[in-house]
Amino acid sequence: MTNFIDSPYVKEFSKITFRLYDHGWDERNGGNISYRLTEEEVSQYDDVHDVLRTIPIDFDGKELAGMFFLVTGTGRYFKNIIDFPERDSGLVRITEDGKSINILWGFNDGGKPTSEFPTHLMGHAARLKVDPNQRVIMHCHPTNLIALTFTFPLDEKELTRTLWKMQTESIVVFPDGIGIIPWMVPGNSKIGNVTSEKLKEFSSVIWPHHGIFASGTTIDEAYGLIETIEKAAEIYNIIRSTGGDILQLITDQQLTELAQAFGVTPKEGYLEV
Ligand code: 13P
Ligand code: ZN
Repeated sequence: MTNFIDSPYVKEFSKITFRLYDHGWDERNGGNISYRLTEEEVSQYDDVHDVLRTIPIDFDGKELAGMFFLVTGTGRYFKNIIDFPERDSGLVRITEDGKSINILWGFNDGGKPTSEFPTHLMGHAARLKVDPNQRVIMHCHPTNLIALTFTFPLDEKELTRTLWKMQTESIVVFPDGIGIIPWMVPGNSKIGNVTSEKLKEFSSVIWPHHGIFASGTTIDEAYGLIETIEKAAEIYNIIRSTGGDILQLITDQQLTELAQAFGVTPKEGYLEV
């Protein structure tokens, strides 16, 4: 008998949620992750074939019909998932009519997916059109990035350019830039629609005074994207808090050379060369 709890997917999920908590980016129940699994991956386990419960979703998920997602539970603490993965996360499948989800594993105390699940699912749909290997949507509350949304104009081009210039790695990791939406009430399909529109264009989206939504083909990629953006924001905040003038920085010409050297294409119109 091969149980899903022993799968590499649950193990990876448990580890990454704890690491996100450890960074201080997922206080209390802050943050949520969804991880798309294929039918082939899921079918190898014996305890994921029965529908335990069916829950309606409040938007049309038809284009994701039949897809499987391992997802964190609403109200659950990231610090605890590592010890209680079967309680604080679950495996779900989108029903054929796209109106509900079937819970196949987990949420064993009656729990359900994150309140941000509409944004996750719409985000997956948007990113799958950009990259068919899209697998992960990760939301968390990185401290420096949130701080920056109070002091920096909420302008995608200006913010992206500034974070590209905070460290040499930035443009290599997020050449497509970072999207920003206005402040909105979270946990509904309205913010899901606005965020997923941005995810058509950017691999990550800032929610001002709240956090970030990042996408990726793997857990590592989504996590690495957030780490890199947060590190750049931290450097920005350190520079501001020291109060010193910036005496030199990475120029647009140097960013262009970097992008060429690493084979990435910077967002069109963001560099002046
Ligand atoms: P959930 O507990 O529903 O996942 O919500 C946490 C959060 O970060 C909301 O944006
Ligand atoms: Zn949040």
